Amino acid sequence: MKVSILGYWGGYPLAGGATSGYLVTTEEGHILLDCGSGVMSRLSHHATVEQLSGVILSHVHYDHMADIGVLQYAALGAIRNNRMQHKLQLFAPEQPADIFGTLFGPHTDVTQIDSTLKLRLAGADIEFAPVEHTITCFAVKITYKGKVLVYSGDTAYCESLVKLAKDADMLLCEATVCEGSTHTTGQGHMNAAEAATIAEKAGVKKLVLVHLPCDGNLLHMRQTASSVYRGPVFLPDAISSYTI
Ligand SMILES: [Zn+2]
Ligand SMILES: [Zn+2]
Repeated sequence: MKVSILGYWGGYPLAGGATSGYLVTTEEGHILLDCGSGVMSRLSHHATVEQLSGVILSHVHYDHMADIGVLQYAALGAIRNNRMQHKLQLFAPEQPADIFGTLFGPHTDVTQIDSTLKLRLAGADIEFAPVEHTITCFAVKITYKGKVLVYSGDTAYCESLVKLAKDADMLLCEATVCEGSTHTTGQGHMNAAEAATIAEKAGVKKLVLVHLPCDGNLLHMRQTASSVYRGPVFLPDAISSYTI
């Protein structure tokens, strides 16, 4: 499967950038992981709304779902013009309920994520594990033809992520906290060393740091991660993609 980074900033984007959005492409379709600010524009380079097998929101903070409304407008148009024969398949945690409630509409089938949910989208098997954030959030594991991708969502250091990421081919792991950065209070997030500790303990083959702070020293973050985790550490850019 191919993983295209559509957006990787935490909280809010830098000029021309986008917050969380990762497009997973298999031979059978596309899965969108998170749909943050600027992601719809980036998605247009890769796929149309009718080509999405499903959209998974790790949680309903706006930096992970700001562009859901415009994606739904695209779905509405595609349905009306018979380009799309099905509703947008959207998966999200049901808390906070007031935000979860905004996801519903005539263009969308919404399914609540919990730790027992197992999905098959674009020929891939998908499972979830709860992680430790300021609201309900799930890490996502995608398995396709024996290859495994794990995405952390937003989380503090937690063993449930180590377990989910065990032996994964690639871990997209949040690293939001950086020395000298005033981007976040740090609550419900990790620094690069903690992300790397997860990668090392889980024995993943490749680590990509995501959900990065706009004012962070990213090269220093990568260096720090490399001092903890023995495998390759990547910082994404706007056109990064990885094949696993
Ligand atoms: Zn976030
Ligand atoms: Zn969050």
